[in-house]
Amino acid sequence: MAAGAGEILQLIRSGRATTRTQVLEATGLSRVTVAQRMDALVAAGIVRAAGSAGATGGRRSERFVFDPADSLVLVAALELGEPVPDAAAQRGPQARPSDAASDSAPLRGSQAHSSDAAELAVVDPHGALLARMPLAVDVAAGPGVVVPQLLDAFDELLADAGIKPAAVGGVALSVPGPVDPQDHRLSDPPVMPGWGAWPVVEAVRERFDVPVHLENDADAMAYGEFTELGAGRGNRPQPFVLVKVSGYLGAGLVIDGNTYRGTDGGAGDVGHVDVGGDAICRCGRRGCLAAEAGGAALLRRLAEAGSDVGSLAELRALAERGDPLVTAELDRAAGLIGRVLAVVVGVLNPADLVVAGELAVPTMIAGIRAGVYAGAQPRATARLRIRPAVLGPDAVLIGLARVAVDDRFSAEAVDARLG
Ligand SMILES: [Zn+2]
Repeated sequence: MAAGAGEILQLIRSGRATTRTQVLEATGLSRVTVAQRMDALVAAGIVRAAGSAGATGGRRSERFVFDPADSLVLVAALELGEPVPDAAAQRGPQARPSDAASDSAPLRGSQAHSSDAAELAVVDPHGALLARMPLAVDVAAGPGVVVPQLLDAFDELLADAGIKPAAVGGVALSVPGPVDPQDHRLSDPPVMPGWGAWPVVEAVRERFDVPVHLENDADAMAYGEFTELGAGRGNRPQPFVLVKVSGYLGAGLVIDGNTYRGTDGGAGDVGHVDVGGDAICRCGRRGCLAAEAGGAALLRRLAEAGSDVGSLAELRALAERGDPLVTAELDRAAGLIGRVLAVVVGVLNPADLVVAGELAVPTMIAGIRAGVYAGAQPRATARLRIRPAVLGPDAVLIGLARVAVDDRFSAEAVDARLG
């Protein structure tokens, strides 16, 4: 393997080789070349020496770590508020908390039109959230309104945290819709009218002259949970699937250590698989999994059954107390989700299936497990781990930051920078 400095950085970042001797063994390069390339990474402020790796000490066993200086990432996760059934809507705005409103921090911005929310953060290259800010937005107002709001909030966030804009090495945004991996624009978003093909990335670049990334939210969440900080622990080669069960349903896939987006960004869009029901989906079709088994569908079905559960937080609390009606509805939903995921498991043979989102309660996870086991071949599930996510809503922010850091420090980008 003829490894440039960029390839050596990948070895150090992944922990596969962190000393000069280990890099020499992994690459087959000469001792002099390894030393030159690692010195270049240190001089560029991308890696630094972090003490001796072994008892022998000395220069050759000195351990190196990835620790770039000026590479904070600004991230914003845009989330649709949960629609509420009529019964709950009549009880007024206090009865409709969104994911962000359940956070104790006050929401900034207008709450008059919608309960949609954005979560903004400054993230360091290791995934630590240095500062964050919730923001109320109205996705239906369109990108011409929402994107400038996000940019103003980024300025405010940096100023509040005392961070100079020059320390920002990338910006990454997530949206609740498919993003075309070729042109990095929203690709016919079924639930974001007016956003299709709008130049979000270009608009952000006019304010922040750094690489800008636009990602689907379930993809970003999957990537965050896939990292060594999340449930996947950075388990590189094996396929990793995350399903988010919240107001809506979506899945993200990580294959060979990379987010798998599909031809036009639609990979993992399990929420709109037809499961044969009657409910009309937000996408306009009938019988979608999301319309039968998503959180909004559960609230609607509970209202029809005479229950006055008004939010996912209430639903979750009732599930934890073992409420029979809520448990029965969660079981039904989990069975449907499990049946669809059994197909995903059959196709991808993943090592991990992680359940995330506000409704990733034990009843839901147990029901999904039962549905997957019932619907998939025993061989496909023999080594499959089905388990809850560990990062909560932070997974999206961490995943977004990781996308930007991976791009900034890819082997090609680093070799180009070091010339
Ligand atoms: Zn649908």
